Amino acid sequence: VPPPPPPLTVTDLTVRFAGLVALDAVGFTVRPGTVHALIGPNGAGKSTCFNVLSGVCRPASGSVRLGEHELTRLAPHRIAGLGVARTFQNIVTTAGTVADNLMLGRHGLTKAGFASAALRLPHAVREQRTHLRRAREFAELTGLGALFDTPVGLLSYGDRKRVELARALCLEPRVLLLDEPVAGMNGAERDRMAEVVRTVRAELGLSVVLVEHDMGLVMRLADEVTVLDFGRRIAGGTPEQVRNDPAVLRAYLGT
Ligand code: ADP
Ligand code: MG
Repeated sequence: VPPPPPPLTVTDLTVRFAGLVALDAVGFTVRPGTVHALIGPNGAGKSTCFNVLSGVCRPASGSVRLGEHELTRLAPHRIAGLGVARTFQNIVTTAGTVADNLMLGRHGLTKAGFASAALRLPHAVREQRTHLRRAREFAELTGLGALFDTPVGLLSYGDRKRVELARALCLEPRVLLLDEPVAGMNGAERDRMAEVVRTVRAELGLSVVLVEHDMGLVMRLADEVTVLDFGRRIAGGTPEQVRNDPAVLRAYLGT
């Protein structure tokens, strides 16, 4: 297992959209090597928070730090380069084989230029071989080893969602942001995904930030939970603590 990633610290994060406060001074810390779930009713600000973490959205104020590194306001590819990778809720690939998709995930790590790769210069060939080996390892880790050369278009929905996860892993991240990884899945596919997330965390020692509606999954997977409602952090703690918090029940039941 590689050394644990540095803590991811979110401080006083505020995001406004034309008068609407989508995030209001939100703070939480993702401790190294843990699964941290971000939950809350629709419109609570979860996706907005993910968008700030991955550099897609600029906050009005506040900061996101990964150890020493200030991530706030960096471009998405810089944030990815510092070891923060994300999956998207609704994007599911259909083109190419599993291997093709995972090799695309390695793209950001390629040092040899396009020309030397095309000319098959020795260092480019070596690098390509390493990419292929790592891609295969991540396929195995996510239960896609036997499907490595299969066109993604032929895979089930659950398998395709794991291709997305494997592709994010191909960036060799230290922090993995998962946006509703089991949305649209059946029970068996959910169990499979939960097991894969657990394996990935254990084998690679990375931190996982999880936005998820499926409470069962959150309770099973998360070490710590942050609860948002109308852009505010209303509760936080272990799944047990959060489940019994009156403010959380009020937010979900709307009473
Ligand atoms: P969640 O993911 O928890 O359902 P979001 O982060 O998507 O919540 O949204 C939080 C609030 O910000 C909502 O009221 C939503 O309508 C609003 N919002 C999100 N993105 C935008 C945007 N690009 N422009 C304007 N309002 C937005
Ligand atoms: Mg959302």
